[in-house]
Amino acid sequence: MNMPDLCIAKDRKKTNISFIENKEEYKPLFKGKKYFLRTYGCQMNVHDSEEIKYYLESLGYMAVDKLEEADIVVLNTCAIRENAKDKVYGYLGRCKHLKKIKKDLIICLCGCLMQEPHEVEELAKNHKYIDIIIGTHNLNELPELIIQKNKEQIINVYSNSDKVFENVKYNRDSKISAWINITYGCDKFCTYCIVPYTRGRERSRKKENIIEEVKRLKEEGYKEVTLLGQNVNAYGQDLNLGYDFATLLEEVAQTGISRIRFVTSHPWNFTDEMINVIAKYDNIMPYIHLPIQSGSDAILKKMNRRYTIAEYKKLFNKIKKKVPNVAITTDIIVGFPNETDEDFQATLDIVKYCKFDNAYTFIYSPRVGTVAAKMQDDISMATKQKRLKILNDLVNSYSLESNQKLLGKTVEVLVSEVSEKNKNKVCGYTDTMKLVNIDGKEDLIGQIVQVEITDAKSFSLDGIVKNKVSL
Ligand code: SF4
Repeated sequence: MNMPDLCIAKDRKKTNISFIENKEEYKPLFKGKKYFLRTYGCQMNVHDSEEIKYYLESLGYMAVDKLEEADIVVLNTCAIRENAKDKVYGYLGRCKHLKKIKKDLIICLCGCLMQEPHEVEELAKNHKYIDIIIGTHNLNELPELIIQKNKEQIINVYSNSDKVFENVKYNRDSKISAWINITYGCDKFCTYCIVPYTRGRERSRKKENIIEEVKRLKEEGYKEVTLLGQNVNAYGQDLNLGYDFATLLEEVAQTGISRIRFVTSHPWNFTDEMINVIAKYDNIMPYIHLPIQSGSDAILKKMNRRYTIAEYKKLFNKIKKKVPNVAITTDIIVGFPNETDEDFQATLDIVKYCKFDNAYTFIYSPRVGTVAAKMQDDISMATKQKRLKILNDLVNSYSLESNQKLLGKTVEVLVSEVSEKNKNKVCGYTDTMKLVNIDGKEDLIGQIVQVEITDAKSFSLDGIVKNKVSL
């Protein structure tokens, strides 16, 4: 593959600044300055924001919670649905207003929306108050752009990349659970999805670097790692080094870190070896997010999902049989172009069959540049909303049912933080990724504790501590 082209912007002169080597030199420039970072979208963006935090804090910026206090605002955008984009544009209004009062305020946009050329053109033309636009493939250039910033708007977006960044530094949000990128991009080209265009083709990190990162995190006291990729099952296929996701997962398990998770799995690439490894190691959590998207073979074909419902059911049953107490969650899109009543009924049928522990449900949102966006769609928004409501009611009934099965039982929970809703409680997740609110104090944070479940709702559980498992 050739080196990527700059898709917009081009005349920025590259300097010889080496940020990593010279960061102490730049600190006086930004001493006492404050940053406000807002993240939209998926875990990939959340993890990218941890990289952004590293760059900003290394320059000398301090984090603030209030937009009004910031000297630099960074919006890490999402392109997956129209409403994610609307939220960014809505927030930009506040930033623009603030810039009228604070002339030196730097406004920076990054993330998936910045990989859409028509969006960048719109921002460059009609939102001149934005100072820096940077894409997903060159986040490492952010500090250099901030250092270089003058009155001109800087747009620095590569249309594609064959690069895999190793040894990226992060200022992580948590000291307990860490995200680890194992692949970048996606080659599946599901017809509704913008990711292959915004994140590029599938690229895997080298196994030894990932294992090194897990070992380092374990030494630092992390209890849990989540291996991240748009499609983790495809890990290693582009490297041709004789290893795949099952090999990686097994070696991560052998590091002895307490808890291992991974997202997201495409049903098409889910191998028997993967299931065997998940079943074999106690520190690989029995939780699998397995997006189904629709219950109709006709719609799955139009989505280019590469499996049929019969194949999904076969995989689902194989996992359930081999991995004891596994929880399986899914994603479902309602109202894909021309989804008939029969197609929608098939979706309800598969939900009834699988009784998913939880499902993330969405109304289809056309994304410019994707194949599905060009499909004619005769289904009204009112029908789509009605279907979503019916689906959500069904999904929630199964979430409640699966949570109620835990009533009176004792489960292991990794306590991660003080409960948002009740400051006298702490909360964390079971091995099966169920949220538990626990009567207890902050000293439990970071520990794996045995908790007796006393109440079950659709989206969370309540419990009391029985025993501490690990310190
Ligand atoms: S597998 Fe499909 S839905 Fe998932 S990121 Fe790739 S193209 Fe998008």
